[in-house]
Amino acid sequence: MSLTTLNHDRAAAGMVYVYPVVSRRAGGVSVGVNLNPNNACNWRCLYCQVPDLKRGGPPPIDQVQLEDELRQMLTAIVHGDFLASQVPEAMRRLNDVAISGNGEPTSAPEFPAVVELIGRVLADFALLGSIRLVLITNGSLAGKSRVRAGLRSMAGLGGEVWFKFDRATRAGMRLVNDSASDPERHYQRLKIVAGLCPTWVQTCLFALDGQPPEQAEVAAWLGMLMRAVNEGVPLRGVLLYGLARPSMQAEAERLSALPEEWLRELAGRVEALGLAVRVNV
Ligand code: SF4
Repeated sequence: MSLTTLNHDRAAAGMVYVYPVVSRRAGGVSVGVNLNPNNACNWRCLYCQVPDLKRGGPPPIDQVQLEDELRQMLTAIVHGDFLASQVPEAMRRLNDVAISGNGEPTSAPEFPAVVELIGRVLADFALLGSIRLVLITNGSLAGKSRVRAGLRSMAGLGGEVWFKFDRATRAGMRLVNDSASDPERHYQRLKIVAGLCPTWVQTCLFALDGQPPEQAEVAAWLGMLMRAVNEGVPLRGVLLYGLARPSMQAEAERLSALPEEWLRELAGRVEALGLAVRVNV
């Protein structure tokens, strides 16, 4: 089966932990490492694209299998014909390895060991420093010492973190992330993470029942960013996401994409704070 930008099926490669994604947006291939093969997360975001999402954490990670799968995948991409046979010509390059997947990756107790494992494998393929290593996280577990250890290892490998901060009010986090998280505590976690590893704030914005986020929500979110700037939190910038792919949650029909101009106008307000912004629609 040819993999396209629309074919993000994590089972497409027939592996448990490792999957390829061809991204038109990034113009290349990303190798994903999924630490939640049971589709379990401690949050339940309205826009989440994980099918059959359930609450919880991952089963024990078989690190031998994970390493074997990662080596197989990189061998096929770097030394084999994966790119030529599976990827449209304009996108035949390896962009990154992303610790992401079907739930919150840092909820795996093995998270720090997995970071080290990935570093070892990338070094063996002479890829350290030449491709990106990314952790995509909701940040909710950043207070845990094992998560901080993994983040220090990520930094040592030249990696970066995409930290989810969709809304900055308690009601907004409850609505959008189905999380009881307190925005102040989440902000403190952001500070911890950004202090340990280069960090982007990642935010998904969409219309709910045809209505864009309320002005008070937008103001609270911008206020959080302004505070980070004022307090010298070393953010790389902000990744603004629209609704690029359909939600797989029960509320999917209530969600719709915002006009691109809406996102671009907000991006301008973020830039005015002195932060870099990437808009992904
Ligand atoms: S944190 Fe990520 S995996 Fe978890 S529910 Fe939200 S979007 Fe889905």
